[in-house]
Amino acid sequence: MSRFFDLVSKPVRNMGGYSPGVPLQTVTPQVQQKLIKLDSNENPFGPSPRAVEAMGRALAISSAYPDDDCAQLRHKLAEHHALQPEQVMVTAGSTALLGLLCQTLLAPGLNAVTSQRSFIVYSLAVSATGASLIETPMANDVFDLNAIRDAIDEKTRIVFLANPNNPTGTLVDVGIVDNFLARIPGHVILVLDEAYYEFAMHFSSLRGTTHSKSLDYVRQGASIVVLRTFSKAHGLAGLRIGYGLGPPELLAYCARMRNTFSVSSVAQAAAMAAIDDQGHIRRVVTNNADQAIVLTDALSKFGCRVVQTSTNFLYCDLGEGASIVARRLQDEGVSVRPLRAWGAPNCIRVTIGTPEQNQFFLGAVCKIVGHNRAEQIALNSNRT
Ligand SMILES: *Cc1c(COP(=O)(O)O)cnc(C)c1O
Repeated sequence: MSRFFDLVSKPVRNMGGYSPGVPLQTVTPQVQQKLIKLDSNENPFGPSPRAVEAMGRALAISSAYPDDDCAQLRHKLAEHHALQPEQVMVTAGSTALLGLLCQTLLAPGLNAVTSQRSFIVYSLAVSATGASLIETPMANDVFDLNAIRDAIDEKTRIVFLANPNNPTGTLVDVGIVDNFLARIPGHVILVLDEAYYEFAMHFSSLRGTTHSKSLDYVRQGASIVVLRTFSKAHGLAGLRIGYGLGPPELLAYCARMRNTFSVSSVAQAAAMAAIDDQGHIRRVVTNNADQAIVLTDALSKFGCRVVQTSTNFLYCDLGEGASIVARRLQDEGVSVRPLRAWGAPNCIRVTIGTPEQNQFFLGAVCKIVGHNRAEQIALNSNRT
């Protein structure tokens, strides 16, 4: 402990680590084969077959360094979003861009603001710079942008808004974001994290709502960086590729800070092909919306409170200690995320899987929670 502790930088000393879901490599092969992983919001259908094919071709020439600038992909993304290529920056996952934005904009004495119960990486990326993260309370499981505005001071450089949010799955109303952006001081950059964009977009089209005007803000040149990723709807989480859309000058500063050749050629090839397979995305988001209803209905019948989702997971209040339930679910062969570390000890986050995976999960919940509930009812009736 003491050999290097005094040598490492102060932010490193003060930082905690990230605890991921169950990494498949760490469980035994027998469990690995059977474990249904609903703990990391991964795509249950995997990547597009076209992306897999493109990766095969890229593998054969992987002795060559990748294009550091991801020019081809940036141009394709610019066209896809009707933006200029200079407004696009590709990174090794969108979390890498979170790190770059923090390194570029923050330093000890400065701060960033976000909501409590949001994406854990904001806190890691901020503390790595020695700056502080202010976390405001939520209002009804949604970001409270009034509280965030009140928390902004002259030392604030970044506001993180996960929209929809992880782990609550909730969306901030588009009018409220509009309003917030119009009143944000000039020294603050809004990072609008839209990792679940494709799912949110599909839900909003079903619900007849507008879920985001983020690209309009980018086109207007607002002080905003929109984050998107290939990890979720595109099913490429293991490849590490995502991107940001924002002001060219700011993205160019971030580009100075990035590691050389950080986005692999295989990832770039996969992303190019994944964009072209909109049929795969459609299949993914359609299953997700259908299954969100199935899971929400069933969990509600078990007496759980399920928050309306705009993502590929559900935020669910079990009304009892979620860590124990999660452990028992894992014994049954399905892993979900208990949210004690988010200050929600009775809540889990469960990824929406294939119909078969979801039925398996519900069967396990029935066995565990259903049994507990039956016991409770029996106890109460004995008392009366
Ligand atoms: C999953 C997720 C991301 C994506 O991270 P990658 O680094 O692109 O895999 C970003 N933000 C939020 C809120 C997420 O849940």
